[in-house]
Amino acid sequence: MTAKPKIAFYWCASCGGCEEAVVDLAEQVLDVVAAVDIVFWPCAMDFKRHDVEAMADGSIAATFVNGAVRTTEQEEMAHLLRRKSRVLVAFGACSQLGGIPGLANLSDTASVLATAYRTSPSTVNPDGVLPQRHTVDGGHALGLPGLYETVRTLDQVTDVDYYLPGCAPTPKLIAAAVQALLTGALPAKGSVLAPDIALCDECARKASKPDALALAAFKRPSEVVLNEEECLLAQGVLCMGPATRGGCEAACVQGNMPCTGCSGPTSRVRDQGAKALSGFASLVASNDAAEIERITGAIADPVGTLYRYALPASLLRRRRVAVS
Ligand code: SF4
Ligand code: SF4
Repeated sequence: MTAKPKIAFYWCASCGGCEEAVVDLAEQVLDVVAAVDIVFWPCAMDFKRHDVEAMADGSIAATFVNGAVRTTEQEEMAHLLRRKSRVLVAFGACSQLGGIPGLANLSDTASVLATAYRTSPSTVNPDGVLPQRHTVDGGHALGLPGLYETVRTLDQVTDVDYYLPGCAPTPKLIAAAVQALLTGALPAKGSVLAPDIALCDECARKASKPDALALAAFKRPSEVVLNEEECLLAQGVLCMGPATRGGCEAACVQGNMPCTGCSGPTSRVRDQGAKALSGFASLVASNDAAEIERITGAIADPVGTLYRYALPASLLRRRRVAVS
């Protein structure tokens, strides 16, 4: 009997949503489990790092890594799994682009820790204790991974073969990727495993997207009762569809919410946020500097809107921090 291909899953700086996306394959997950031998999946199975270390290099057919890379342990695991795997897939927006954890690149690590452990309204920490890398408790030494100053994408740490986009990738895209891996019908190395079209091209509202728009105000979805049929951009709501890769079948727009850009750019766009910014800027219905300032000033969180998932992968990458 031919041995089944070995598959691994790993999570780095992740919310767990990408793990749930695998389970969301529903009954198809049984087909996957029947076709492969899952040799490492810390979220679901009790394999340890030393089990992976004991495997022969290149013995895992494919490893799917979700989450961005923020800690020393995540970087070590990325290198280890790269060595053990013939194919390494960056799974989901955080792994591909940096994702939501990548917005921490707007701050330095000390501020992130202070907010999380001292100043956030839900924190109770009267002594202001912060996580320690090395602690001795009851005669036992405990260690924590180190935090890097900058959140990185998986391919900023190690060589990546394919990218599965989305926050999280849809079951349809995951199933197609697994099928391609099992049959060897893979595209060129470095490909994003989703259609190379802008989301607008597969959006049911595209017929109502005007060729030319002049907006006197950008609105947040909470500020307007949205027509469920009309292009959201035409209604003044910032929709990232024109700057975002399709493949998710415009799930958010189907729910009457704008695209927030989780599938990243198409192959023709280097910087998703810059592409969106140039598109949105061309919609401003004024040539007067003060009026332009008023209209664009209404965008509550420009970085969080334009680079919500892709700051570490962007040309900007991070905000500069003072080095003491
Ligand atoms: S891509 Fe989205 S679902 Fe996946 S780990 Fe990141 S935030 Fe969570
Ligand atoms: S801008 Fe948004 S709502 Fe309009 S067609 Fe593109 S994806 Fe659809």
